[in-house]
Amino acid sequence: MIPFIDLKAQQKLIRHKIDERIKIVLDHGQYILGPEVKELERKLSIYTDSEFVLCCSSGTDALLLALLGLKLKPGEGVIVPAFSFASSAEVMPLLGAIPIFIDIEDDTFNIDPGKLADAFNTATEMGIIVKGIMSVGLFGQPADMDPINEFAKNNNLWVLDDAAQSFGGKYHGNNVGNLCEVTATSFFPAKPLGCYGDGGAIFTNDPEIYEIANSSHVHGMGKSRYEYDRIGMNARISTIQAAILLEKLEIFPSELNKRQAVANNYYKHLNDLNLEIKLPLLKSKFISSWAQYTIILPDNINRNKLQESLKFKDIPTAVYYPIPLNEHKPYKNYPVSKSGLINTNYLARNVLSLPMHPYLSEDDIIYISKNIYEAFKNN
Ligand SMILES: *Cc1c(COP(=O)(O)O)cnc(C)c1O
Repeated sequence: MIPFIDLKAQQKLIRHKIDERIKIVLDHGQYILGPEVKELERKLSIYTDSEFVLCCSSGTDALLLALLGLKLKPGEGVIVPAFSFASSAEVMPLLGAIPIFIDIEDDTFNIDPGKLADAFNTATEMGIIVKGIMSVGLFGQPADMDPINEFAKNNNLWVLDDAAQSFGGKYHGNNVGNLCEVTATSFFPAKPLGCYGDGGAIFTNDPEIYEIANSSHVHGMGKSRYEYDRIGMNARISTIQAAILLEKLEIFPSELNKRQAVANNYYKHLNDLNLEIKLPLLKSKFISSWAQYTIILPDNINRNKLQESLKFKDIPTAVYYPIPLNEHKPYKNYPVSKSGLINTNYLARNVLSLPMHPYLSEDDIIYISKNIYEAFKNN
C-alpha cells in the first residue's frame, strides 16, 4: 500500500535526533513547560516573523485561546467557511458565540472574499453583532488575505487565521502566522508540521492577545501561579512534544520544498492524462504547504467507485470534507450567508484527496496517475 501520509520515512531520517531530544527531557524531568517549550516558541517566532508565539495543547485549543485573546463574547458572530474541519466552527459555540457560514471559492477551497458582505449582512439583519472573520488555509493554501483584511478593517472586525493545514505557506512573500491579527495552527501528527501527539500554537503581534491567551492556557493564571485573573483552561503543550517539534522544525523548510516538488509532479502526470479533472493550480501570490493534494472530479464520475478501484490498486484516497459543516446536527441552526453555499456543496460532492507527503516518489505518482486513468475509463 502506498502510504497516504508517510510519517515513517520522515522518522527514519531524524530518529536519532528525536531520541536524543527526548532523552534530554527525561533527564531534566520538566515535563510541563520545560525549556524546550520556550525554545520552540522562540524558533517559531523567528520562522514566522510573528512577535508572540504561544504553544498549546492542540490546534482546536489554539483557536479557542485565540478567541479568548480576542475577547469574543456570547451571542457575537464570527464568519467562517462551511467547508472546513469541525474545529473551525466548534470553538465559537463553545464560547456561546455564533458561527456564520460563508461559501468558498471553487478553485482555492478558501473563503470567497466577494461573499463577505452577504455573510455580514445576513448576520446583521438577524441582530447578530459580527466581531470577526476566521479564514482557513484549507489543504495548505492560505486564504486571499488582502481583501479579507480590507473587509475586516472597513467593518471593524478582526481576522483569525486557522492555519492548521496552511502553516508553512506564504502570501505575497509573507509567512502564514503573520498575515492577520492572530493565527492558530495544529501540530497533530498528520499536519505539515506535526508532533507525535497533540499540540498547537498561536501567533500574534498584539501583546494583549498574547497575554490573555498565555494566562488562559494555564487556568487564567495571574502574576503568580495560584493567583487567577480569569477563567481559563489547561491547554499546555507537553515538553516532550515541543522537543520533538524542535527537530521536525529543522527539516520543515526542506520538507516544504519536497512537497512542492510532489505537487509539481502530480500536476505534470495528471495533466498529461487529459481527463476532465480539475487540478490545484496556485496563483503566483500564494505558496502552499500542500497539506493535501486535492483534485476535483467531474459530476459524471462516481467518487465511491473511483476510490474503491484505487484502493484495489493499493492507492488510498480520502474525502475532505463530504458534508458541509452547516449540515451537521450541532450546526444546523446557525446562520448561512444569504448568497448560499454553491461552491461548498459542489466541492463536498466532487473533491478527492490523493496521497501527499514529502517523500512521495515520482514513480509512485506515475503509478497513481496511471491507475486514475484506468479507473476513469472503467467508472
Ligand atoms: C486539524 C485541524 C484543526 C484542529 O487541530 P487539532 O490539533 O486536531 O485540534 C483545526 N482546523 C483545521 C482546518 C484542521 O485541519
